[in-house]
Amino acid sequence: MSPDPPAEQPPPRQADSPRLVEVDTAPPGTFGELEPSSPPLTDAQGRIRLSFTRIDTYRNCPRRFRYTYVDRLPTRPSPHLSFGTSVHTALEAFHDRQLPERPGVDALLAALYEGWDQRGFVELTRDEQVAYYRHAQQVLRRYHARGEPGDRRTVATEAWFEVPFAYQAVVVGSIDRIDVDGDDQLHVVDYKTGRRARPRSEVAGSLQLSLYALACQHLYGRLPATVSLDFVVPDVVVTVACEELDLDAARDAVLETAAAIRTAAFPTTPNRLCEWCDHRPICPAWEAPAGEQAFAELVQEAAARRRQLGREVRELRELEAGLQRLATELGLDA
Ligand code: SF4
Repeated sequence: MSPDPPAEQPPPRQADSPRLVEVDTAPPGTFGELEPSSPPLTDAQGRIRLSFTRIDTYRNCPRRFRYTYVDRLPTRPSPHLSFGTSVHTALEAFHDRQLPERPGVDALLAALYEGWDQRGFVELTRDEQVAYYRHAQQVLRRYHARGEPGDRRTVATEAWFEVPFAYQAVVVGSIDRIDVDGDDQLHVVDYKTGRRARPRSEVAGSLQLSLYALACQHLYGRLPATVSLDFVVPDVVVTVACEELDLDAARDAVLETAAAIRTAAFPTTPNRLCEWCDHRPICPAWEAPAGEQAFAELVQEAAARRRQLGREVRELRELEAGLQRLATELGLDA
């Protein structure tokens, strides 16, 4: 979708720059054209397919859940999401290597370069894209300098799980990292790429970590000794013992959410996250007066035309490149 650096300008060996999106030719966003990416709401056995994000979305606003997971409307890539995806991908590749010696920071930065997710940056200027990339490099340098506990080794990264809850629901997801220590105890780590760390009490009450602990039990036959949120941006790790988690509350949350979804009750619940909700333009809680609606429609039409123009420019460039190649082969001047 987005152009790599042209062949005559290979990327720097130190991977100091991101593979920039050409802002002047790339479409300003693919929102509205994306295929819905979320899998269906129920699995082959008729169980509600949940994840931490789905449960969290439903609890926050059932209507948003409906738009995203029942109607399966596409959602917009964003710099924040792409930044998080890129850092996660780099850390996964880094810890996946299982080498006798811990790789150097260059390996981690190379993984960032390889895994840089451009989708959320297409509407930013080159300077803004570079600023995000530099920030990710800085975060990963700090992460590498911090090191890891010496008595542990990573046994899984992005560990996929599907945990059944009776015949009602199945909770799916992947755990960023699972380590094992010298006493064969498991330790779950989840990376967070937000700007602020959360207090310990919030980490202990995390539904996500409780679900990961249950997933660990499902995958390895035992609960982890600890679960951690690694806030890589402020460089803070908050670890709690598994006993501090409320696993019964997590089980209840899964079953209650599945039962509520089965009733097809999706009330509109305005909340502090509405500002970032991709479905706000069609949400009845935010219905705009007629003049504003007409304005919004014109904005959408302009965006669609810009996308169309971007596509045509790309096609023209491909055509010109093909002409140039052919001319070279035939010894002609294009
Ligand atoms: S805009 Fe707010 S109320 Fe409407 S669907 Fe989104 S989160 Fe829910």
